[in-house]
Amino acid sequence: MSGIRPARDPDTWGVFAAAADGRVVVGECSSCRAVLHLPRPYCHRCGSFEVGWRTVAGRGRLWSWTTVHQSIHPAFEAPYTVVVVELDDEPGVRLVGRVPGEPDLEIGMALVARFEPLGGDGDGALVQWDPAEDRRNAWVS
Ligand SMILES: [Zn+2]
Repeated sequence: MSGIRPARDPDTWGVFAAAADGRVVVGECSSCRAVLHLPRPYCHRCGSFEVGWRTVAGRGRLWSWTTVHQSIHPAFEAPYTVVVVELDDEPGVRLVGRVPGEPDLEIGMALVARFEPLGGDGDGALVQWDPAEDRRNAWVS
């Protein structure tokens, strides 16, 4: 993707660096292990400034979505679908991503992470999502 560069903010850059390495991470307190989402420089639970990253499985459930039909930036060719994904490993942690086109989606269906490089080495990557092959829905029985 051209024209999109995340800021190398020390509080959030770990998300983009891990994605370039093929991993999904969430912020974590190094003292009490609380998940820090959105990532921040201190722990909301114990007050520690010792924070880091926890690698989670790149799987989640579709929590919500909307399809964009009119492109508003050359980097985002329409149509595309913006998805909100709740992580299987960390219920309550939801990440936003983009799926090309207008896929057949259902709330609760399984999605898997896809990593979209932002440029060359050291430029980071975005976590995007695709429907899982099994498409199993954990929220509807
Ligand atoms: Zn803590």
